[in-house]
Amino acid sequence: MILCECGEIIDGGTFKDFIKTSSNPSTPTIGHDKCGYIFNFIDNKMYRKYSSRKELKTIAIRYAEKKKIGENDIERYLMEVDRMKSNGNSSDCEILINAYMRLQSSNGVK
Ligand SMILES: [Zn+2]
Repeated sequence: MILCECGEIIDGGTFKDFIKTSSNPSTPTIGHDKCGYIFNFIDNKMYRKYSSRKELKTIAIRYAEKKKIGENDIERYLMEVDRMKSNGNSSDCEILINAYMRLQSSNGVK
């Protein structure tokens, strides 16, 4: 999963491009249609992006909408995200995905 600089989860809606990276002067990559941000998978540390608590909440809400998390679950999802954020030093992506999986599995046993 890719988290764009604009805070959206990339799920399709990308264009192909070539950029200069430390490994190759013409490295194939993708960009985000919506905001135009071009990813640098070689040099970028976006997988280890750490947003503030407030930013993360905004991203989590977008993510929840994209994943079609229902109204009943979204509160629990956000709480889970918040709990993981205060618990350790996971990156944004790890938190979003882990909280989602936790929600899924708790829904599975009801
Ligand atoms: Zn974007």
